[in-house]
Amino acid sequence: MLDVYVRTQDAPGLVDGCLLFASRSQASDLHVEPQTLGWQVRQRVDGLLQPLVFLPLALGKAVIVRVKLLAKLDIGEQRKPQDGSFQTTINQNQLDIRCSFLPGYLGEKLVMRIQNRSQGILALADLGMSLRQLRVLQEHLQAPQGMVLVTGPTGAGKSITLYAALQNLLQPHLNVMSVEDPVEMVMLGMHQVAPAPNIGITFSSVLRALLRQDPDVIMLGELRDAESADMAIKAAQTGHLLLTSMHTNTALEAISRCFGLGVDLQGLSYCLQLVINQRLLRRLCDNCKKPLSKGQLDAAKSPIWHQVEAECGDEFGPFAPAQAVGCSQCYGGYKGRLGVFEIWPITAWQRAQIEQGQQPAKIEYAKCYQQTTICHSIYEQGIARVMAGHTGLDELKRVLV
Ligand SMILES: [Zn+2]
Repeated sequence: MLDVYVRTQDAPGLVDGCLLFASRSQASDLHVEPQTLGWQVRQRVDGLLQPLVFLPLALGKAVIVRVKLLAKLDIGEQRKPQDGSFQTTINQNQLDIRCSFLPGYLGEKLVMRIQNRSQGILALADLGMSLRQLRVLQEHLQAPQGMVLVTGPTGAGKSITLYAALQNLLQPHLNVMSVEDPVEMVMLGMHQVAPAPNIGITFSSVLRALLRQDPDVIMLGELRDAESADMAIKAAQTGHLLLTSMHTNTALEAISRCFGLGVDLQGLSYCLQLVINQRLLRRLCDNCKKPLSKGQLDAAKSPIWHQVEAECGDEFGPFAPAQAVGCSQCYGGYKGRLGVFEIWPITAWQRAQIEQGQQPAKIEYAKCYQQTTICHSIYEQGIARVMAGHTGLDELKRVLV
């Protein structure tokens, strides 16, 4: 499909064609990068880049100019990084495109982040948590105050979880507000604010103003500096339910990061209710996956495998471990993604440790809640998903080891 635009050297057609292709594949980003013989266009689908089309030198340059014009940027500026955005409608999907241009030795590299506004927000129950994890989270979302912290590396789906939680809280008797940089999904029924540091509107100044707006529930896109962390902790202690996220690999790391920011430890120990850690795993394509052979299954049986099998092997469905094959309907045997989670409700003794500035010695998972054993760590939950044939062992190892 894209070859037609390459043959006719049609840069506007090619940009629209790439966006159409990306929107059909549910890609999150489009990359256009200069090489010695031309320009490589790739799309990121389910977290991995895939080649889309290769452009001749002149056409690649025309694409860069075309996107700069769409994003209302200076087409003459090729030495400095530039950021911009534009909106477009493709196949009845409203797309927000954020563009970043970075000059390099061979030319400017362009990355377009694609946000589909027409895409609905996932319900909490569809995120991928086990029923017991979901119950623990829902209990905490009903609390009148306190902090729920979502952790994970970039691209782990933290925003998806925050939006799903907010959607659960959009009720007529609650004033739900957010500070996000930038606003990733527009949600009806709540007030969303984005800081604008270029005109002096910082994250903490927005948060300060927002606290005067009588909020019940506040979502802060990310905890990143001491000032906003301190304000968030105070808000979560004074009758507000606060949802936020942090870029850390593990739940425990988030506590050390808070220590590093120099926040009020007594306040933190009082308000922190629940820490979530998460990852996204690619889902095996139902059309082409094939069962693991007996040899592969025997090789997979580690001590942790046996433990998960005994405790929660059927948590996500019947035992049917499978492997990726690949067909015309998927990419390398995978299609779509699912979340795996660790849910850590803070216990009284961990609260005391945090107050004294000590890293909690270990995480006690939600079993203290239900008095039953649950699939607790994120890796164990991943193994349970492998057992149900939802993802492959190679994917679990790629993301979590
Ligand atoms: Zn397939």
